Amino acid sequence: MEQVAIRKGEIGEFKIDIQLDQLPKDCRYLSDLLVKNPKAKSGYSQIDHVVLNPYGIFVIETKNYQGTIYGGKDHKTWLVNGKFKMMNPFSQNYGHIKALTSFIDKEYHDLFISMVSFTKRCTFKVGLDYRKIASNEIIVYDIELSEFIHRKVSVLKIQHKEALLNESDIVTIYKVFSHANITDPKVREEHNRALNTNTSDEKTSSIYTCTVCNKPVSDKVKRYCLANKKFNGKIYCYEHQKKAH
Ligand SMILES: [Zn+2]
Repeated sequence: MEQVAIRKGEIGEFKIDIQLDQLPKDCRYLSDLLVKNPKAKSGYSQIDHVVLNPYGIFVIETKNYQGTIYGGKDHKTWLVNGKFKMMNPFSQNYGHIKALTSFIDKEYHDLFISMVSFTKRCTFKVGLDYRKIASNEIIVYDIELSEFIHRKVSVLKIQHKEALLNESDIVTIYKVFSHANITDPKVREEHNRALNTNTSDEKTSSIYTCTVCNKPVSDKVKRYCLANKKFNGKIYCYEHQKKAH
């Protein structure tokens, strides 16, 4: 039987918070989005972070695997420690990007940059292109996320003399994505349940909300909080995780 290392990988590490605070000043970002995606099995896509910048739209998927990550562009599945299979995270993130493009004008569709962030507990044995700043699919360690975004933006600035998105474009896209984000706790619950149907060790999901602001959070965020001692068994949204310790 194939073993799939799903669970651990779905717990975000969220050192990303610090990284997102260090983004270039002209960036805006959204975290923990749940948007409609008719092509996804559950009907929705959960997107960890979207960073909007005058030179691109970064879509970030976070992973919390431990060990050596083996993967390449033409591989549908990647391996963790040569044993556990994971879906190629860039295929997964491509689905997220496709879902996001459906909400915005075609002129913005080529501006997406796919990033997958792993924790420092991983070692990459992946295609070298993923580490190249010229690529539109970049793999990073969480602690270097903002650095890579800075570097990518610098490269894009050289390539394009003028900004690709002006301030009002960014505001518009930000609003559209915020609006597309499903905050209805019932829908979020259904999505979590759909994700969990394959794992017998999972209890049926319930609605997860931030202890402070009551905003619904994804299953991924809930798991992270509950697995993290500093949160004392409480669940916090990204915003309030920062203030919780
Ligand atoms: Zn909150």
